[in-house]
Amino acid sequence: MLTTKSPGYRHLFGPVPSRRLGRSLGIDLVPHKICTLDCVYCECGATTTRTLERRAWVDPDAVMAELESWLAPSDAAADAPAAADYLTFSGAGEPTLHADLGRLAAWLAGRTQIPLALLTNGTLLGDRALRAELAPLSLICPSLDAVSEDVFGRINRPHPSLTAAGLVDALIALRQDFPGQIWLEVLLVEGINDSDSELDLLADAIARIAPDRVQLNTAARPGTDPTITAAPQASLARALARFGSIAAPVATFTAAAASTSASDAVSEAPAQLAEALLAVIRRRPETLARLAASLGHDELTLKRVAQQLEAQGQLRTERRDHETYLIATVR
Ligand code: SF4
Repeated sequence: MLTTKSPGYRHLFGPVPSRRLGRSLGIDLVPHKICTLDCVYCECGATTTRTLERRAWVDPDAVMAELESWLAPSDAAADAPAAADYLTFSGAGEPTLHADLGRLAAWLAGRTQIPLALLTNGTLLGDRALRAELAPLSLICPSLDAVSEDVFGRINRPHPSLTAAGLVDALIALRQDFPGQIWLEVLLVEGINDSDSELDLLADAIARIAPDRVQLNTAARPGTDPTITAAPQASLARALARFGSIAAPVATFTAAAASTSASDAVSEAPAQLAEALLAVIRRRPETLARLAASLGHDELTLKRVAQQLEAQGQLRTERRDHETYLIATVR
């Protein structure tokens, strides 16, 4: 039962029900909200520090101590680590900004058979030394939402030194250097990057990058800019037709995908469960149903905890595309 191991961690969260990776234990290497971009659809809130500086934004020893603890068998959950499909460098910011990412990945690869993944916006991957650091990973999921510079500026609101052309070149270089899987995410926002001309440019860039998969996504969760809307099905269909057979919509995570069922759940103090819930939604908004599947609790129990947190002002709810999301109000 994973949640008994999760409370108290500052740099680990989940395993969360990732629509792209199944059950993913998140490893958060940058404080909220440090990134090279400030995407309009970002689920983590507006970027407060937009930077290209790689440094030890959090103490790497503290991250290693938490991972040691999480990986260690416990009486309550001897097989807990196996319940994650990936250990994923991700979180409320850009993980490649951490100067010790490579050292942490190599250290972790020596301690677990669980595959390591990285969710990245890709903007720093033009750095050959950084690409070399990523060798211990099994999977890299970079993003590419636009190829024309004006659309890149509108949707990703980058650091002034970044360009879309530089990002595409960096992803091509990654493909040449990295032998593992590369799953490229393209996220469409209605009226910004779903025009025929931009989709044509994206298709051409995808052909040059040659990722193993393209995961097509849209702004499903509440984002930084409340005025943006998810791309309509017609836009997703036009994109899929252009991107070829390696492209597919991001799958919806279901309880069946979780390796821990509600019936496996053990009783857990509400305070611990509240902490585990907050650890997830501080990184991104999530629905009650997916949280229940991820955390191995029934929805009713989780709903009571969420209502208490809402009454305390620690979370709020927001409707989006017929689903209700829990959003942390305190980061
Ligand atoms: S979506 Fe990712 S890349 Fe964009 S601002 Fe948020 S954390 Fe940064």
